[in-house]
Amino acid sequence: MGLIVQKFGGSSVANAERVFNVASRVIDTYDAGNDVVVVVSAQGDTTDDLIEKAKEINDRASKREMDVLLSAGEQISMSLLAMAIEKLGRPVVSLTGWQAGMNTDINYSRARIKRVVGERIQLELDKRKIVIVAGFQGINKYDDITTLGRGGSDTSAVAIAAALGADLCQIYTDVRGVYTADPRIVPEATMLSEITYDEMLELASAGANVLHNRSVELAKKFNVNMEVLSSFEKVPGTIVKEENTVEKMLIRGIARDNDVARISLVNVKDAPGKAFQIFSILAKKKVNVDVILQSIGRDGNKDISFTVATNDLEVALNTLNANNSIIGAETIVHDDNVSKVSIVGAGMTADPGVAATMFEALYDADINIQMISTSEIRISVLIDRKDAEKAVKAIHKKFELHD
Ligand code: ASP
Ligand code: MG
Repeated sequence: MGLIVQKFGGSSVANAERVFNVASRVIDTYDAGNDVVVVVSAQGDTTDDLIEKAKEINDRASKREMDVLLSAGEQISMSLLAMAIEKLGRPVVSLTGWQAGMNTDINYSRARIKRVVGERIQLELDKRKIVIVAGFQGINKYDDITTLGRGGSDTSAVAIAAALGADLCQIYTDVRGVYTADPRIVPEATMLSEITYDEMLELASAGANVLHNRSVELAKKFNVNMEVLSSFEKVPGTIVKEENTVEKMLIRGIARDNDVARISLVNVKDAPGKAFQIFSILAKKKVNVDVILQSIGRDGNKDISFTVATNDLEVALNTLNANNSIIGAETIVHDDNVSKVSIVGAGMTADPGVAATMFEALYDADINIQMISTSEIRISVLIDRKDAEKAVKAIHKKFELHD
């Protein structure tokens, strides 16, 4: 018995039947004697639908008003789930981000949680109530509603678990856990029983659509026990934690990210300070740069290429073009038909052959690599988008990750 935070994603609460399914799983945990805090996302495609609705009115709506609109999705699911639990005869209360004390910084649309004031939640738990909290939303110092970025409900759940010192934070979803690759691309992908925070963080940042990467960062920082599991099947999921106790796998997983675009500055002067100039101009516009490649200088010139999120492409190109009198590139080109494919595994630090094996898999599949980047436990390549799924399959096979 203890305190358990359970987060249910949009597909888990998509309709009335599923809301009751969630209610009964919550009640199982509650009836076993636990205190339960439940975090919910908006039902099904609600968030996407709300974004479409906004576009019909104003496709340049302010981020503040977008957050007011989008937070409504979670407010619908939290109240419906509370009503289902009421109907099943257990004491329950639903709370918005504001009521639950989810304090964030001022950044609308991608706010970060600064502090969770857990008193109200605790007060309700002390009355033996099941507490439902709207995910994805918080409140900033102006008392305005903020949202945490797409997929942010995971982060709400972990933040609450950390603030209340929960014994476990369960992230319920429509798959059984974390897999070696997206099972929609690789049907024979293996489900992992465990993964480390660092590996999960690299996978999440590399585009594996399982967990919001900020949620893993928080879980690591506050040592929150995390489990990713199915809301439909009652089977154990994947445990995310500091150390693995099971066998060390060389590669824990493969991720594909289509949310990337490449920009190349061709023939900029090969002089000190160029990279600093370019990337500080972009940083001022809050454009995040990912994979960077600089060529060796020839005839006093060099090329600098890098990737950005597709959402940032337009701002990045406009900014670079507007500043090209200072930067001095001969041409600025871009390609948004690219994907980033990454392999992640804590075991690769000790094995010098991992990169070669990955590149061999790509060579065998006749796939050209445009850019490469690495961290201690990750290798990423940028390739043509049309090759991305083929690449994931080929790498999965090469490393024998199948079940
Ligand atoms: N409803 C939000 C989204 O669709 C937050 C979430 O699902 O975690 O991005
Ligand atoms: Mg999600």
